[in-house]
Parts: sequence; structure tokens; C-alpha cells
Amino acid sequence: MPKTSRRLTVHALTLREVEVVRVVDLTSGMRRITLGGAQLHAFTSPNGHPQPAFDSLGFDDDIRLVFPYPGQTEPVLPVQKEKGVDLPRHPRPLSRAYTVRSWDAETGELVVDVVKHGIGVGATWAYRAQPGDRIHFYGPSASRSLPQDADWLLVAGDDTAIPAIARLLDELPEDVRAQVFIEVAQDAHRLELRTLPGVEVTWLVRGAEAGTAPRLVDAVKHSDWWAGRPFAWVAGEHTAVRDLRRHLVEDRGVPKEDIEFSGYWRRGDVVALDTDAAVPDPEKSATPFERLHDLTELIAPIAIRTAVELGIPDLISRGVTDMGDLAVSTDTDARALGKLLRYLHTLDVVTETEPGRYRLAPVGEVLTNEFMIDALHPAGVRGREMLGIHGLTGSIRTGRPAYASVAGQTFAEVRAEQGYEDRYLERLAKFQPALTEPIAKSDLLTGVEHLVIHSGGAGAQAREFVTAHPNLRVTICALPAQADWLRRDLPDTIPEHTQRARVGVVEQSVFEPSPEADAVFISRVLKALPDADAAHALRRAAEHLTPDGRVLLVEETFDTDDLDEHDGEADLLALTVHGSGLRTEAELDAVIADAGLTCAQTHTVGWGTTVCELVLTRPSIVPPSVE
Ligand SMILES: Cc1cc2nc3c(=O)[nH]c(=O)nc-3n(C[C@H](O)[C@H](O)[C@H](O)COP(=O)(O)OP(=O)(O)OC[C@H]3O[C@@H](n4cnc5c(N)ncnc54)[C@H](O)[C@@H]3O)c2cc1C
Repeated sequence: MPKTSRRLTVHALTLREVEVVRVVDLTSGMRRITLGGAQLHAFTSPNGHPQPAFDSLGFDDDIRLVFPYPGQTEPVLPVQKEKGVDLPRHPRPLSRAYTVRSWDAETGELVVDVVKHGIGVGATWAYRAQPGDRIHFYGPSASRSLPQDADWLLVAGDDTAIPAIARLLDELPEDVRAQVFIEVAQDAHRLELRTLPGVEVTWLVRGAEAGTAPRLVDAVKHSDWWAGRPFAWVAGEHTAVRDLRRHLVEDRGVPKEDIEFSGYWRRGDVVALDTDAAVPDPEKSATPFERLHDLTELIAPIAIRTAVELGIPDLISRGVTDMGDLAVSTDTDARALGKLLRYLHTLDVVTETEPGRYRLAPVGEVLTNEFMIDALHPAGVRGREMLGIHGLTGSIRTGRPAYASVAGQTFAEVRAEQGYEDRYLERLAKFQPALTEPIAKSDLLTGVEHLVIHSGGAGAQAREFVTAHPNLRVTICALPAQADWLRRDLPDTIPEHTQRARVGVVEQSVFEPSPEADAVFISRVLKALPDADAAHALRRAAEHLTPDGRVLLVEETFDTDDLDEHDGEADLLALTVHGSGLRTEAELDAVIADAGLTCAQTHTVGWGTTVCELVLTRPSIVPPSVE
């Protein structure tokens, strides 16, 4: 069986400027606009490229009408080339697709029928079109012949498909057999179509908002299914077309190659311009397709990371601007590097100042910032942690960390590498003063004699605490790799001898009983622990508290009242890296309760950091042997 039953003819695209010749309403729901003008014949484009006469061979050929952006008088136009057109990117031409309802080479008239559906750039143009108005269009890009090799045709579509269906019926041979289903908004929107003895046309009245009623699918489902091999042509609202195709493939067993389906439009929200309620605001009315495209764009993030990994922005900023020199300095293939630079130029990360020479664009300059490099370089502290997200599918399947499946080692093993841990702690230390200074200056530590700290930023925190509280003694609990860095770090970070003497470091994990103290400070540790481990860690922290002692807990939570994509990102990353996540307040409360603790009071300090004062809820905590 042939893969498709319609032969394809490809046309190089020509941009033409035409004039509205006539405007007629076929029904109250459909406006016919006839276009004419010299550029429908062979002509030479304004930039000097000879172009052929307009032609349209297929019943469902479409052209793209190009409109000015709202508030502008001239449209952004495609650029005519000798063969075909180039579409500028920023901004793109604002265009809409319409079927060539008819083309008469003798009169030079081209007809489009436009659905009067409401707010829309195209619909509004049709409402307001007057004879003499000028408009550009390009296309059709291809034409397909009438379906071949089928015993009968199944044709289904909504109002937007009527021009194609009407033209199909005009062009079909007398002996063809077809079932045609057309959905319109109202009975009055039916149109006179050519009748053929073997063709049954069923009009369906929607009686609901366009794109919301399953009329087409239902009608086809309940139709008499004729014997023999059908060829199906389906067009209209995207989801209706999808559902109809599913029905044909899954319930009727029609081979996919015998179904031609096109989503002609998508139901979606539209934000109208403040100045003209009949025109959508293109800035705010991105289609779901455009939004999805932006969300799933993958090449740019990877190409930028590759440039950072190779050190390209850094080299350019140091004056290595020639492509050949960059290839030598980065030990890369000059041709391949040229491709990367060319692409980065299109992203406005670099600019090619003369052939083969580059400078950094403002975005590229940011890539020389050490903090950014650390986040984007796969060996950077943040970059290496971020690798975990590639294991998301595995983590979602199992609920467990998938870091090892991506990186070949667990993240705990990465942290155990002294070099990595040193850089990790250095990075954390930078953020600590802003977090800790307000806690140190609050009355949270008033009267505390011995404070135990569990935190990646413990060194910097200890400095703030002992500086603010002259009688405070601090014990930092840290794993061996952390303890080593902290010991090296502390003498520098705590300048006064007396303060240094008040800070000690013991090698132990958060899962071992904390030394006796009247306060234990735990900062952003639980996020990396699954619930049971987090509760266990809290229990251990509270195990040797003095009778009035407290656990001071700082932990980010997922704000469910104000959903934020960054919270979502941190949550998923923690899942893939640690098997844990960012907890909601209720989830954190459950962990605290499981540890036998209660949040007696919360304090908001500094830039909005919440510190929970946890106290024991039971007279004694569960002895370790029972757990
Ligand atoms: C190959 C092809 C051929 C097409 N042929 C024709 C044709 O001959 N005649 C024709 O009228 N259309 C045709 N369409 C459909 C047309 O391109 C879309 O309806 C287009 O969205 C209209 O643009 P607009 O600027 O009026 O509305 P948009 O700015 O695109 O959309 C604005 C809002 O209107 C909604 N909307 C868009 N179209 C409709 C509709 N038909 N009914 C209800 N709500 C709608 C959108 O969901 C959105 O919320 C064709 C589409 C394709 C892909």
C-alpha cells in the first residue's frame, strides 16, 4: 500500500502584495474576501528576484496572510530570496493560515473564506477589510493531489475546514464515494455545496463554544461504516482532530497513513489589547505551542554550558577572539567550534565582529562571572549537583535518588571528595553572614552557653554567633571532609584568639547524638534527607539537650499559597540527588512531630528567614535501641 494516497508538489515560497477586491458575507459566520493584483501574475520582487505567477493545485492549499503588529502600520515581512523566503526571528512576521478557496488564473482572483469567530488578528482583519486594502501573503508551500487508491473518503471538519471541504467537493470526480461531516456554530452557517451522487454530507450544529463539543467525533463514531479502504481527511480544532484520529486508528483500525489530519486552530485563552478589544495582544497571548516550545528548548542551554565548559567566554574576555586561536586554546576542532560560535551568535551570546572574530555580547559577559561558571560548568559545585536532574524519570518511577545512574556515583560520594567538598563549603560560606547575622543579633541565643551547629555553613555561622555573644561556646558537628575544611577555615574566619578558642569541631554526622547543649542549630540540612532520616536526625539532635534546651531549625519550605517555579525546581533536584525534596510546612511539621518535637515558636528574621524553636513533646525521646 502506498504510504500516502496524495502526491505532493512543493512550491518555493513567494511573498506577494495584493489588494482586497471584494468583501461578501456568505453567512453571518463566514466572510469571503477576494484578492487581486499584479503580483498574482509573474513579477519581479522589490529586491529584484523574478517570481512565478501564483498557482494553487490542491484543494487544501493554504497561504499565510501577514498582518502588521497591533499599533503598527506596516507588517514585519518575510524577506524574498531567489527561491523561497527567509522569516526574520525577532520579531517574526505576524501571520495566519487561510485556505485558497479558489484561484482563477484568467481573472487573476484569489478567494479566501474567513470564519468570523471573535477576537483574532485574522478575524479582525476580515471584519474590517475594505476593497482597496492592501495585504501581503506567502504560499502555498505545497499542494497535494486528490486522494488516490481509496474506496471511499471520510471527510470531517469544523467551520475553518469548510473552504477546503467545499473546494474538495468542487474538484472530486462524479463517481467518488464520500461521507462528509461538517460542524458549524449555527444552522444558519450551513453553505451551499456541490452535490454528488455518491457523497453524503452531514451538517452538525455545535450548540456550544467552538472547540468544546465532541460533535464531530460522536457523529463519525455513530456513522455507518462503509466497506472497503477509506481515506480520511480531518481538520479543525486541534483536540477534536486528535480525538477523531484516535477513534479512527484505535476503534476503526484505519492505518495511520490513510488519515490526513491537521489542527487548524487551538482553543486557548486570549488577552485582548487595552486599546482594541478585538485584537489579541501578541505579547500576552502566546499560543500553547509557543509556550511549550519556550519551555522545552534544549539546544540553547546545552550549547551555552558547552561554551562555559570549554572556557570560551573567559578566553574571549582575555582577548582570544579569533576562531582559530580559540580552537588552539581550547584544543577543539576548528570547524566544529565554528558551528558552536555561529549558534551562540544567533542567541546573542557572542557577536561576530568580522569573519571568524568574536566578542562577547552582554549575555556572554555574564558568563565570565565565577558564580555563573560554577552553576553552568558540569564540574562546578552547582553544575555537578544539577546533573542529577537528568535522572528525573528514574526518580519519579522509584521515588528514590537517581544521581548515581547519571553520574556513576552517589552525591554523597561526590561530597566525600575533599576537593569538591572544599569548594562546596566555600560556596555555602558566602551566603551565611546574611542568614546568620540577624539570628545572632536576635534574642534567640540569649542565655545560651553551649550551641551545637549542624550546617554546611557552620564556620561562618559560628563566627557570627560568637562575635555577638561573648559567653557562647560553639561545637560544630561535621563529617570528616567538612571538618577538615572547617578547621583550615576557622583560624582565618575568626580573627580573635579568644573567639577561636570558643569554637570546636567534632567529627560526627547529623545521625549521631549531638553533644550536650542548651541549643542545637540545624540549618538547611533536612532538605537533603528523606522524611524518616530527617526525623531521625532531629531526634538525635535533641537527644542530649539540657532540660530547657531547644533545637533551632532553619529549613526552606515549599510555599503552597504562592507557587513558585524555583521551589518546584529545588524540590525536583533534591528528589533526584537525595531522594528527598522541599517540604511544605505541613510536611515539615509531620517530620518534626515524628521526631517527638513540637514547634513552640517561630521567628522571622533578616530577609524573611524562619527559625523554628523546637522543644520536646514527650518527657523522654525514643531510645536508640528501639529504632
Ligand atoms: C492549513 C490551514 C488552513 C486554514 N484555513 C482556514 C480558512 O480557510 N478559513 C478560516 O477561517 N480559518 C482557517 N484556518 C484557521 C485559522 O488559521 C485559525 O482559526 C486562526 O487562529 C485564526 O486567526 P485569528 O487571528 O483570527 O485568531 P488567533 O489570534 O489565532 O486566535 C485568537 C483566539 O481565537 C480563538 N480562535 C481561533 N480560531 C478560531 C475559530 N475558528 N473559532 C473559534 N475560536 C477561534 C483562539 O483559540 C484564540 O483564543 C486554517 C488553518 C490552517 C492551519
